[in-house]
Amino acid sequence: LPRTILHVDMDAFYAAIEARDHPELRGQPLVVGSDPKGGKGRGIVATASYEARRFGIHSAQPISTAYRLCPHALFVRPDMKRYAEVSASVIRILHGFTDLVEQVSIDEAFLDVGGSRRLFGDGAAVARSIKARIRGELELTASVGVAANKFVAKVASDLEKPDGLVIVPPGEERAFLAPLPIRRLWGVGARTEEALARAGIRRIGQLAEVPAADLERWLGATGEHLGSLARGLDDRPVVVEGSNRSIGHETTFDPDTADRGQIEATLLALVEKLTRRLRQHGVAARTIAVKFRRADFSTCTRRITLPEPADTSEQVAPVALRLFGALFGEGTLVRLVGVYGTNLVPPGARPQLELFAPQAARPRRELAAAVDAITRRFGEQAITRARLVGKRRG
Ligand SMILES: [Mg+2]
Repeated sequence: LPRTILHVDMDAFYAAIEARDHPELRGQPLVVGSDPKGGKGRGIVATASYEARRFGIHSAQPISTAYRLCPHALFVRPDMKRYAEVSASVIRILHGFTDLVEQVSIDEAFLDVGGSRRLFGDGAAVARSIKARIRGELELTASVGVAANKFVAKVASDLEKPDGLVIVPPGEERAFLAPLPIRRLWGVGARTEEALARAGIRRIGQLAEVPAADLERWLGATGEHLGSLARGLDDRPVVVEGSNRSIGHETTFDPDTADRGQIEATLLALVEKLTRRLRQHGVAARTIAVKFRRADFSTCTRRITLPEPADTSEQVAPVALRLFGALFGEGTLVRLVGVYGTNLVPPGARPQLELFAPQAARPRRELAAAVDAITRRFGEQAITRARLVGKRRG
């Protein structure tokens, strides 16, 4: 039986919240980003309203570029605390339809609603109800994709933004994807797109026709994976946080980099995020894994199981750096690094283990708790390891 997966993606989330709460901002080109200084700051665009996007402004762009594109745009600083509260309200609405909710980011989630049919109807009916509740209760709009798997649902949610609803009936995944440009595929960056364009491949449908062996020869290990996606195949389940078997973060470098210092600094920042999330969830990881993807898309993962479950960066950072060192050779062009905690143990498993832990473990945990508290108050940027600060200055 095909699954019924929804991808729910809020439209221009930060900008939409600002426009909702400040009527004078409505209908204007609006840019939400750090350090805006009326467009003259050094920050990055977090979200642009659809009015601003018409000028070519988009997220991850320097504020200064946005200002050049549209000097009369309104620039406002993000209010992450409020956005997080609204996000929690969205997730609460989603949980009204199923327990199988996987939050991907602050404004985006996957749902498996296959088991909700008797109560709430088919995928399309659930999608309409969710959109109506988000509009009615939060005065915001979401775009929703409905499909038999996560990848196709994600592509579908993006097609008719804002306020979109795109339904891909089971069996029509491949035909639905075929006319779309290659860059809609997960994992295809500018370089892969160029390489495929040189081979005359611009549409997903063309990629779907290429034999798997050829794709592997051109693109390495992920070639076959991209081929499957192009044919509309993706069997990853919706993973519910809390019951999950791993917590992790990864970063893609654009462009690829061979700079060991940069990669290690990135890895340490990811360790910081990972361990904070472990503590938020009240779990510790017995196993730490580092994932590593080269420019040619070949991917490898190294893992190690620790004598003592870990939930602080002091414990995880040296392990992550060691695993990375085993994978990295000088001159290797790296596309992506990630760090994962797996084999998670509940907090109940800890006290007994701590009988045997060195005395140093307790102050380390207290330090970690203090760091968490500061981060909750001042946001992610507040806490930066000395090494990262040095890297940024340099
Ligand atoms: Mg969004």
